[in-house]
Amino acid sequence: MAYGTSPRRIALVGIGKIARDQHVPALQASSEWDLAATVSRSGSIEGVEAHDDFDGFLEARPDIEVISLCLPPQPRFDYAKKALLARRHVMLEKPPGQTLAEVHELQRIAEKQGVTLFASWHSRMAAGVAAAKSRLVERVVQSLRITWKEDVRKWHPGQDWVFAPGGMGVMDPGINALSILTEILPEPVHLTAAELEFPENRDTPIAARLEFSGNVSAEFDWRQEGPQTWDIEIETNKGPLALREGGARLYVDGSEQKLLDHPGEYPSLYARMADLVGRGASDVDLAPMIHVADAMTLGRRVTAAPFEF
Ligand code: NAP
Repeated sequence: MAYGTSPRRIALVGIGKIARDQHVPALQASSEWDLAATVSRSGSIEGVEAHDDFDGFLEARPDIEVISLCLPPQPRFDYAKKALLARRHVMLEKPPGQTLAEVHELQRIAEKQGVTLFASWHSRMAAGVAAAKSRLVERVVQSLRITWKEDVRKWHPGQDWVFAPGGMGVMDPGINALSILTEILPEPVHLTAAELEFPENRDTPIAARLEFSGNVSAEFDWRQEGPQTWDIEIETNKGPLALREGGARLYVDGSEQKLLDHPGEYPSLYARMADLVGRGASDVDLAPMIHVADAMTLGRRVTAAPFEF
């Protein structure tokens, strides 16, 4: 923050798991931001002005110019559209919407209103991602394999929205891997085949295997108990690279690289949002979501055992 400027007021909407785990700590630790209000039907944060109605909040606090939406994707479009029409700058949790067209519409409104729209991808801010990207500039990628296996009961406890239409199922974490893929690869790839496992009692997949051009593949599974796996392994003409732990650790030719001190994914996202608002710019990259939409279009459906939390 420039010397002498005061923190920018921001409101958080949807006080649930990710708001409490990441957004609130990142904002409260930042000198650039003042967490001035929350909007949630039932949640609140101690010491922060709480609203339970979004229309009422927009009317009551026109001085809060920035709104960060931590809602699941299904209700997000309606909230984002209202916020943009009320001339607020908007930051979206990932994935930025239920559909691509929703996000295109938000982009159009943001542009017309002259406000910032930031479709955030927190995994792109992981400590090893920028370093991996710069290493790949000097190498030819021969193959890349993503393994993203985690326990849905641990990361989305009781969150039925992930299995409802628009919730994306295992693509909800999988899109984090795809956000890294689309960031680090020097040349774009496209999906060529997919197999999606849908629990017989649910509307979204619990596991997926994706194949892309360029010898790129991905395996996502939400049924992994015990150790969790978020790995990207890359073979190149000059030896292997690997990103592990969701991009937090980088290995080149088998040895772990020392990474620069890193503020963390969410502090980095909010620093980016402050920069975008300051410059009057937007950042909406839909490349990760295009791969998910393509997998849903091209994927072969396999029925899996019913799933209950
Ligand atoms: P969550 O806890 O289930 O939901 C967040 C909050 O959104 C809820 O507490 C709820 O607050 C509000 N909400 C839910 N459904 C709503 C509806 N239909 N209308 C209005 N408000 C509604 O979800 P989350 O885990 O925080 O995930 C939210 C977003 O963050 C998702 O897009 C997810 O992909 C992303 N994310 C999650 C994680 C994670 O570890 N869980 C990590 C990174 C990113 P009120 O009921 O109080 O209004």
